[in-house]
Amino acid sequence: MKELYRSTEKTFLRIILISIIGAFVIEMFFGTVLLIQGNYDMKLYLNYLKAQCIIPTIISIAAYIGCYKCIDSPNTNTNVRIYVQILTLEIFCFAITATHTRFTVLLGLFILPIVHSGIYGNVKYIRLAMEMSMLGAILSISILFAFYDDINFAGFMGTAVGLCLLVAALPFALIVRNFANANKELLEQQIKNQINLGKQISIDAMTGLYNHTAFYDELERLIKETDRTNESLCVAVVDIDNFKSVNDTYGHSRGDEVLIYLSGLLQKTCHEHVVCRYGGEEFAVIFKNCGLKTSAALMNEVLTEFGNHHFEWCSERITFSCGVCKHYDIRINAEELFKQADKYLYKAKKNGKNQVVSE
Ligand code: GH3
Ligand code: MG
Ligand code: MG
Repeated sequence: MKELYRSTEKTFLRIILISIIGAFVIEMFFGTVLLIQGNYDMKLYLNYLKAQCIIPTIISIAAYIGCYKCIDSPNTNTNVRIYVQILTLEIFCFAITATHTRFTVLLGLFILPIVHSGIYGNVKYIRLAMEMSMLGAILSISILFAFYDDINFAGFMGTAVGLCLLVAALPFALIVRNFANANKELLEQQIKNQINLGKQISIDAMTGLYNHTAFYDELERLIKETDRTNESLCVAVVDIDNFKSVNDTYGHSRGDEVLIYLSGLLQKTCHEHVVCRYGGEEFAVIFKNCGLKTSAALMNEVLTEFGNHHFEWCSERITFSCGVCKHYDIRINAEELFKQADKYLYKAKKNGKNQVVSE
């Protein structure tokens, strides 16, 4: 969202600068045409340049520089950035309107800040732009009425129409605001969906643990990180003993119950580390900043609690076997490290199961 605001601000500054230069060039062009055609003598021409080209351009450029400085500073908060944009547009409109006598057309300029304020999706900006535009328009009119005495009925009518146009800009600003808000909500919803989707891709639905893919991603990332920081990194692989017979004897859903129970136990004991369901009845734990002894001790703790747990539907105790190893060599990648831990798991199975074997 911040990036969107920043790019809108940049576009805004570009548009304002082009408008200021454009207005200056057009004024110069028409003044020169009037001079060439003989409608203006040199004195009138110079007066015209001063009043309708140079003064409004200087005022607008000063506002533009102020706005640029404010927006360019990273310390300016969003609220102020928007207020400054509205103010700059108002000053630009005022500088042009107050130096010309074409009421209807030029009062319409004050519509610009009102519609622009709508894109930020908040009524408070629209209200501010509306009030400032009204004030700017009335001020311009007052200046004109004070300095020109040849204002006729058409002039009054033009003023009235110009003010009506300003009020008519309000619903347009509200349409822009509603549209901006709807887009914002849609964008936020899409971001939420993407985050959820990302979670679903890396989380095992039954146990809530990281899945096989996330295990390798995380292990690869941590191997790189610990190579830099020189911290210890260990991996444990867990496989439930005789799980097939648990399923065969008590049913698949009882088997699921065991998997969920062990997941909770691993998460509780290894809460500072990364617990994953490697697949089926196999789990893996990545021990971050943790030595081999501590990792093996934690796994023994889990094994004792798991082995002592009594599932009321099961007459015997359920156990697991576990292999633990440490990452020593920078050349060993995630897959190879897992294979090493799996070798120790195999040893544990061969030694009679229900044990943790580390290198
Ligand atoms: P070992 O001690 O050698 O590991 O023997 P085991 O019976 O545990 O080994 P095996 O690999 O033969 O069996 C694993 C069983 O795990 C087979 C499969 O039905 C079961 N299993 C895999 N995923 C799930 C699951 O999500 N839920 C349940 N209930 N069972 C599962
Ligand atoms: Mg297995
Ligand atoms: Mg097994």
